[in-house]
Amino acid sequence: MRSLRSILLTGGAGFIGSSLARLLLERNDLEKLVILDKLTYAGSLENLAGPDQDPRFHFLEGDISDQGLVARLLEQFKCTGIMHLAAESHVDRSIAKPAGFIHTNVAGTSDLLEVARSFDTPFLQCSTDEVYGPISFPDQADEFARIKPSSPYSASKASADLLVQAAHTTYGQDVVIARCTNNYGPRQHAEKLIPTLIHHALRDQPLPIYGSGRQIRDWIHVEDCAKGLIATFEKGFSNRIYNIGAKFERTNLGIARTILKELHKPESLISHIKDRPGHDDRYAINPRLALIELEWRARIPFRSGFEKVVRELANTLRPA
Ligand code: NAD
Repeated sequence: MRSLRSILLTGGAGFIGSSLARLLLERNDLEKLVILDKLTYAGSLENLAGPDQDPRFHFLEGDISDQGLVARLLEQFKCTGIMHLAAESHVDRSIAKPAGFIHTNVAGTSDLLEVARSFDTPFLQCSTDEVYGPISFPDQADEFARIKPSSPYSASKASADLLVQAAHTTYGQDVVIARCTNNYGPRQHAEKLIPTLIHHALRDQPLPIYGSGRQIRDWIHVEDCAKGLIATFEKGFSNRIYNIGAKFERTNLGIARTILKELHKPESLISHIKDRPGHDDRYAINPRLALIELEWRARIPFRSGFEKVVRELANTLRPA
């Protein structure tokens, strides 16, 4: 088992990172949690209100590519592991302007790996099911499926995964990769699908749905995902990939309809817009390896988990 005693968490001020920070701080064996985050438009210190009161919590604003800073943190806090979540994460933005995705997701991961190597620090890479590309029904991608990313975002994540694996093969670094499905939960940035749909519904504005809306995603509650990341870090075999998914497939249209029902708004608000280029029609992964080797599985049922999240997000997004 890898030790959680002192963790450097990158991207901890973002959506998944801020949930992971909360779960890590619930652990008695954790002595130090060091968060490194650049605070881009997607990150916010407000996401860490609560955890920031814990004496074990330390926050540093900075870039994962700043190798001097990362080296100082690993040394000062005697880190026993890096959990790497920092990324540019919005597919639409990657299509409009890929450069930042290459900078952070590819070059940034490589820079971080290099410093991890000099300190012999175990490394968890948080990746995505999007690297497998579209999967035809009823197939599911297991961890040995070929990668076939469609967007600049998923291509940048797939590139980072390859660099992580190369670090093991070439230098013997202790690395492990978690490929997670679509998360829903509190503190998700307003630009993402679910917060956008809630925001529009609350204002009785048309809910923008790409193309037919029949694209299928596997939805997982962010707390389940964060638990999967911890399990992968602690128990995952070195250089192995673990799929972290809930096996709960739903179309984007289905998600929009559930939100409208929950907020007592009419389905007539759904508005189909021009499809996103390269839009994958289905993601589906098999998380069996995580069950067998990590004894992890998603536990929060979609129905209750999603309803609660819609209510929570609606409270933060409601018009004044
Ligand atoms: P997010 O956009 O909410 O948060 C990303 C965080 O990284 C932000 O706090 C941002 O300030 C920080 N960051 C960005 N560039 C940085 C840099 N150069 N240096 C330091 N910090 C930087 O993203 P998220 O949704 O929480 O995703 C977290 C990770 O999980 C990402 O690696 C993403 O690819 C992966 N992932 C997300 C999902 C999902 O559904 N959200 C699904 C699968 C995988």
